[in-house]
Amino acid sequence: MVFFCQQCGECCSHMSRIFTVEEDPQDGTYAMHNAYTGEIDHVRVDPEKIGLFKDREIFRSLPEACFFLRRDPENGLFICTVHGTRPELCREFSCWRLLVLTERGERAGRVMGSRHLASEERALSELWESRIRALPLLDDPSWDREVIRILEGYGYKVITDRAP
Ligand code: SF4
Repeated sequence: MVFFCQQCGECCSHMSRIFTVEEDPQDGTYAMHNAYTGEIDHVRVDPEKIGLFKDREIFRSLPEACFFLRRDPENGLFICTVHGTRPELCREFSCWRLLVLTERGERAGRVMGSRHLASEERALSELWESRIRALPLLDDPSWDREVIRILEGYGYKVITDRAP
């Protein structure tokens, strides 16, 4: 199924917990450090978004938002101001509620909003089938907590799109 981003901003609203950003004043690029993988991506603000990028209003309501996330004042949609050069992690994900990383910080899978797993990692898929898929009906926060507890018990790191 083709994924169409609705620009709700949810997935980028807590990404400062993953990415720290450092500007290179020499050439106007920014280094995005991934706290989990140790990877560094060099990004540049899209030329047509420089004006929007300078507006830091978004951090009043979303203090954990990615350094590059902004809201379009015209229509309220969320915009990545470095879309053209955004990191691989951002290119690959679609809507998720939990991002599952291996012990080494590599992406193992995503738990989507509808509580299903998207993963090509066999061990994680098997764990999902045996321990998680049949969890009893819980409300969303309780379900997330239980899934995180199980995954962390097997050595995975889990990032949530919700505030801690
Ligand atoms: S770089 Fe863009 S896509 Fe990636 S987290 Fe930041 S705003 Fe979202």
